[in-house]
This record gives sequence, C-alpha cells and structure tokens, in this order.
Amino acid sequence: MPNSVSALYGSGNDEQEYVAKAESIEKLMMISEERQKWDGTYRIKSLPRNDKLIKLLRGILPENQISFDDEDRISCSYGKSSIEILAAMLGRPTDPVEAVVYPDYATIENLIRGLDPKKYQLVPVGGATCVTGALAPSRGKIRIAVSTRNFRRVDFRENYVILGSGYTGKEAETILNENGLTIGNFPESFEHSTLGGWVATKAIGQESNQYGGIENLIIGIRMIGSDGYFREEFVPRNSEGLDLNAIAIGAEGKTGLITDIAFKRYRKPARTFYGTYFFRNYEEGIKSLSKMKFYSSIMRLSDEVETLVALDGEFGSPLKKIYENYLRARGVRHGSILIVSNNNAEMPEVPRRAVYGGKYPAKKWHKGRYTRPVLGNILWKNVLIPDTLETSTTWSNLYSVHTAVRQRFSDEMQQEQAHGIIMSHISHIYTTGACIYFTFVIWRKENQMQLLENTRDAIIDEFVKKGCAVSHHHGPGKYLEKYLDSNLSEIRRRTYDPLFSDI
Ligand SMILES: Cc1cc2nc3c(=O)[nH]c(=O)nc-3n(C[C@H](O)[C@H](O)[C@H](O)COP(=O)(O)OP(=O)(O)OC[C@H]3O[C@@H](n4cnc5c(N)ncnc54)[C@H](O)[C@@H]3O)c2cc1C
Repeated sequence: MPNSVSALYGSGNDEQEYVAKAESIEKLMMISEERQKWDGTYRIKSLPRNDKLIKLLRGILPENQISFDDEDRISCSYGKSSIEILAAMLGRPTDPVEAVVYPDYATIENLIRGLDPKKYQLVPVGGATCVTGALAPSRGKIRIAVSTRNFRRVDFRENYVILGSGYTGKEAETILNENGLTIGNFPESFEHSTLGGWVATKAIGQESNQYGGIENLIIGIRMIGSDGYFREEFVPRNSEGLDLNAIAIGAEGKTGLITDIAFKRYRKPARTFYGTYFFRNYEEGIKSLSKMKFYSSIMRLSDEVETLVALDGEFGSPLKKIYENYLRARGVRHGSILIVSNNNAEMPEVPRRAVYGGKYPAKKWHKGRYTRPVLGNILWKNVLIPDTLETSTTWSNLYSVHTAVRQRFSDEMQQEQAHGIIMSHISHIYTTGACIYFTFVIWRKENQMQLLENTRDAIIDEFVKKGCAVSHHHGPGKYLEKYLDSNLSEIRRRTYDPLFSDI
C-alpha cells in the first residue's frame, strides 16, 4: 500500500465552514461536465536511495538528524504553489530531494564543511508554504533539504528579541504574547510559515499598514554560508556597505541559511476594533482609499465578485436577507466590501462615500484569517484549479490594472475554451499605492497544466505591461524568475552561495 503526503495547505480541519463559499464559486463557474474527486495527496511509490549520500551524511551528522524517508523527502520538496499542487494531482511531481537533514546550532557548521558545493546543493526548508516554486529543483546538483526546525532560540534584549529561524509565526507569537509583546507579522500562512521563510521570501503580514513588511520588522539576521557565519552585530543602523539584510532578505535561501533573526518588538495591542463598509463599486472604493491620510491596521477592499463570494455563507438565511435588503436600500447591494480592523483605537479615519455595514463581517473575517485557505483545498478536491497572483502599483494605476487583468483573463478563458472566474482585493496600503491581489479559479477537462501556465502568463504579462511589480510579497521563486529584469537577476546571482544554489 503506497503512503501518501498531503499536497494541500494546512491540517485539513475547518473545511466545513467554507463549503458554502466553494459552492458559490462553483456556481459562478457554470461547469456542467462530470468531474472526479481528488484526495489532495502525493502518491508515493518507492523513491530511489542514494547509497553514497547516505554514507556521506552518516559521517557528518548524528543519525537522528538525517532522513531518507520517502514521506519526509516529499514533504520538504514542494511548496503550495498551484503548479506544484496540480502536478501532484496529475501524478507528475518533479524529482524530490535525495535526503532531508535536521541540523541544529551545534551541527550546522559540520554539515556545511562536509559537503562539496560542486556536487551538492543545500535547500533550506521552513514551513514549505511558498507559492512560487522556490523549493523546486534547478539544474544539476544533488539536492539535500535542510529543515530549519531545530533552530529555536529566544533571547530577549532591550527593545528587540532574537529568535531562531525555525519557529512558525504562531509559535513565535505565542512566546512573545506570554510577555505582553508582539512582532507584528501576520501573513495568512502564519500558523505554518516560519520566521526564516518570511525573511527569505520578503513576506508581509496582514497588519502591514501598522507594522510594515518583514524588512521593516527586523534589525538584523544571522546567516551561515559555505564560508561560515556572516559577522554582523545587531545594531539600530550601520553604514558598513552592502549589508547582510540586503543579501538575505528575498534571497529564497540561495545566499545561505538564516539561523536567527533579531526582531523589533511591540506591546501586544490591548484591543482590536472592527468595522465593515461598502462602496457602490470597486472603483469608488479604490478612489476613496487613495484619498485617506490615516490607514487602519488592516484594510481589505474586495471587488464586486469577491464581495459576492465573501457574503455567501457568512450569515444564516433569514439574517442574510435582512442584511442584503439593508445594502440594497443604501445602494451598495452589488458593491464592494471593505473589511477594517484597527489595533488599540477606533479606526483613525473613515473612508469617504462608504456605507457602514456593522462590525460582524469584519470580526468574522478576522476570526478566520488563518483558516480561509482551506477554501482552496475544497476546490482542489473538486479538481478545480485555484491560484493567486499579486502585484503592487501606484494609486492612479490600480483600477486600470484590475480592468486590464479581468479583460485579459476573460479573453484567455475564451481562447482556451475553459471555465474560470477571477476576483481581486486591495490589501497592504501605502500612501503611494497598494497591493492588488488576484484570486482565480479555472477548469478544463484536458491539458490543465497548459491552461494554468497560459493563464498565469497572461495575467503577469498585464502586470508587466502596466509597469507593476512582478510580485508584491510572494517572491519570484522559480515560476516568476523569467519576468525579472535580467541585469538585476545577474547581479543577484553574484551574491549566491555555491553550496546553497546551482552556481
Ligand atoms: C495559504 C497561504 C497563505 C499565504 N499568505 C501569505 C501572506 O499573507 N503574506 C506573505 O508574504 N506570504 C504568504 N504566503 C506565502 C508563504 O507563506 C510565504 O512566502 C512564507 O514566507 C514562506 O515561509 P516558509 O517558512 O513556509 O518557507 P518555505 O516555503 O519553507 O521556503 C520558502 C523559501 O525560503 C527559503 N528559506 C526558508 N527558510 C529559510 C531559512 N531559515 N534560511 C534561508 N532560506 C530559507 C527556502 O529555501 C525557499 O526558497 C502564503 C502561502 C500560503 C500557502
């Protein structure tokens, strides 16, 4: 009997709560063809073993820090990108790593010294939640995954805290909260992604309007490469030339393994305030946000399609009718929802032209802010293909990006003879512009990988044509690399470590 490893995100709990939303999406896709179900797992045959590598690693690390186990190798070889999940569904995943190692502070230097960078590549793995193919294989070398789970250290210093890179966001925040503190980074993947992964992908959390992205939250990093540890003191600022943060942040593990991170620390908010607002349409909502001077900790403006899906399943039927009638009376029934939460005080400024929709939807959204991705799992199990792409641009460009992407998506679905819906929201707000985050779900009976790749290409092509970022926070990974400026990519490659990359 073959073993199985989940290809989907999270633990698989909480799905029941999102069934109504999944049904709402399926209804909008209007698929009449029969579809089979998928159980969401990688099927594992028996993976080949590399005896030479087994012998080599046993001479370097203690036995309990090495695994050649098929399930461990699969778990540490793939992220949660739609391309990797679809490959799993189609039974065509790329080659997994040859081994997984679990070094700690005492053994990491030995591991690094013991491997020939011409033959081996170490691939750091945190929570394996990346959605960009950052863990996917590149050329040539024998790949060994280095799990960071044994890098656990807590050292409170004056106004900052040094944390091991292997903690998940949830684990780290639990430690900080026990001391009345927070580090302020809350990505949707908070329960499973790790501190090291956040730095390596240049991640951002939902409360970024208040705390900023990972680059604003840290004062320093400890990283180890094939020449040993990089020496850098944790100081408020230095002027020592190109700094380690610049080499490590967003490097996706190619410049070395981040072992520790010094985070700024903040008082945990005493209370969070919630509010829901509606605009007649998305365009009006975007305009209104662009005119604001003060932003709440979270402000998330959904377009009309996302609003429709968001409201489905939020209320019991009689209550939903009353709420819808209220929205209709205020002229925003088919409009755009804005979810707001603010720490410690009521929101500092109410957006113009917004209709108040009570606290409840915002509070409910906040409560499910880490479990919502299981909606994607339900769709995958129904063999639909959900995906997300995000970008950032200036205020004046935002709505036109939305329009261009929607039009291109619709053309693409027609050309590909596929079913699909696309929706977006604005999150991560800056005075100069914002992040616009697209979610789409597509389906066709045949050639699904081709459909997915063509759809992604079409959307990113629109980002590039409109002068937007290739990615606002997921990172380029393997799949977006081709869209980056080639001169800049070459300069970045010069900072890569031979043992942690394919150079
Ligand atoms: C459902 C879902 C929701 C998400 N929400 C958000 C969000 O709100 N905001 C956001 O920014 N991203 C989000 N992401 C993307 C993902 O969670 C982030 O990119 C996250 O930072 C990855 O962390 P990880 O520990 O899972 O890293 P992994 O996936 O394990 O690794 C990602 C990359 O970082 C490298 N790496 C990992 N640890 C280290 C280390 N210690 N040293 C050096 N390199 C390392 C790996 O080699 C790889 O290249 C989401 C993903 C999912 C699936």
